[in-house]
Amino acid sequence: MVPSPPRGPIVDPFGRRIRYVRVSVTDRCNFRCVYCMPAAGIDVRPRAEMLTYDEIVRLAGVLAEMGVDKIRLTGGEPTVRRDFVKLVERLSPVPGLRTLTMTTNGWNLAEIARPLRDAGMTRLNVSIDSLRPDRFRTLSRVGELGAVLRGIDTLVDMGWTPFKLNVVMVQGVNDDEAGEFVSRFADVDCEVRFIEWIPFGVEGWRLVPWRDVRARIEERHRLEPLDGADGPAARFAVVGRRARVGRIAALSHQFCSACDRVRVTSDGSLKTCLAYEPRMVSLRDVMRATHDDDALEAAIRAGIAHKPLSHACDEEGEGRFEGAMVRIGG
Ligand code: SAM
Ligand code: SF4
Repeated sequence: MVPSPPRGPIVDPFGRRIRYVRVSVTDRCNFRCVYCMPAAGIDVRPRAEMLTYDEIVRLAGVLAEMGVDKIRLTGGEPTVRRDFVKLVERLSPVPGLRTLTMTTNGWNLAEIARPLRDAGMTRLNVSIDSLRPDRFRTLSRVGELGAVLRGIDTLVDMGWTPFKLNVVMVQGVNDDEAGEFVSRFADVDCEVRFIEWIPFGVEGWRLVPWRDVRARIEERHRLEPLDGADGPAARFAVVGRRARVGRIAALSHQFCSACDRVRVTSDGSLKTCLAYEPRMVSLRDVMRATHDDDALEAAIRAGIAHKPLSHACDEEGEGRFEGAMVRIGG
């Protein structure tokens, strides 16, 4: 029998139990993806404002005591932070954490995959928006497709599967590639996830409707819905092949009612919804003011009390999300 967590569970005002926390370890990134980072870049936070590794490990410990069993490290690009593998080494033994995962742009995955797995990371998501070098460059502004593909090949060679691939669909740029993506990875134990872009400050772009993505895929493959919800993802089997397909529909409200996650920004603010919220609690300030973990628990509960029932953005992008994804931690 699994022992119950030593602190009470985190439950929001609408009765949703929080078990999954995304922790941004940096707002810095070596890519400049058009949907995530403003063209001029962002003013990165001074290092002194960011959570230290000691603070991240302390916070993870208290969250796990409150029943959080999954932490995703994200950013910015988590792997650009110095000694990132050491952070993974320190987090993986935290009692109660079953899943320690990360989202990466894959730029150095070929080199870092083995050390990460040895350090105790359980799973990976790799972002890859196009299979064509020129488009990949257009979307990431600076990234090199070859490096990301080498990273994915390394995961396959290591047998570090299943993994997930994140593909943000951008109308007029890569929305004709959905079928190619599925074909390319069809025989790998992975999930290719097509993500609706979230309109962070971007004008003039429109959502790529799922029916269009699906139609592209079904020109080549047959999809069959898989039972069981996986957060905001609807999942499909690719009939006769190993890969799965996921649809991540952040804009439609369908999944808000089952939302079990919150975010911690790189400066330690508790962000309870991707959409803008004015009242973020600074867990960093609490940790720097006291060594008392009961105070940290109280601050987490105070922040969770502000988690909204759903975000206020519609599928046309009305009610835009505030800020930039690179700052929040996707
Ligand atoms: N740098 C890492 C990466 O790119 O995988 C981790 C951070 S990134 C912010 C996390 C995920 O958010 C990526 O898969 C990225 O494609 C996604 N993302 C960024 N901006 C987005 C947006 N405006 N809409 C939807 N997804 C977005
Ligand atoms: Fe960087 Fe990831 Fe944002 Fe691209 S999506 S700019 S890789 S943080």
